Amino acid sequence: MEIKIYPDPILLENCKDVVNIDEGLVSTAKEMINIMRSVDGIGLAAPQVGILQRFFVCIDFANENREDSLVLINPKITEMEGRTESKEGCLSIPGFYEYVYRYEKIQIDALDLDGNEVIYHPDGLQSVVFQHENDHLDGILFPERMSQIKKDIFMKKINKEFK
Ligand SMILES: [Zn+2]
Repeated sequence: MEIKIYPDPILLENCKDVVNIDEGLVSTAKEMINIMRSVDGIGLAAPQVGILQRFFVCIDFANENREDSLVLINPKITEMEGRTESKEGCLSIPGFYEYVYRYEKIQIDALDLDGNEVIYHPDGLQSVVFQHENDHLDGILFPERMSQIKKDIFMKKINKEFK
């Protein structure tokens, strides 16, 4: 398993719902958590490792030590509120960071690895990470959430870097 780097076209694909939460998915999610942590990432979505299914892993910011991870399967943002600017990066666009617009608070419904329904009401960094990773499942990379001027400059920079 390796992290796909921009402009790998798989990063722009739409992912399909997870149908079966089986042992394969559990071990894949665990491997993704290991990779994410090995590169000091805070989130990693399935298409970033070449899997076109709707799930992602991320750090659980509710835990102060940040040693717990979350797995969200078939997530859906069902409520959104407010607007915030956050400086973001992406493991698939390494070395580049820029401010993007996000909702301040969201409600996100998902399944966990046991197939249980979970509902989160994150704010702060957890909310931003959920939105960033959820976007990956729709083939949306974080430059899409920049103002047009910022996006144009950013895209020029990354298109020069990654060919
Ligand atoms: Zn990303």
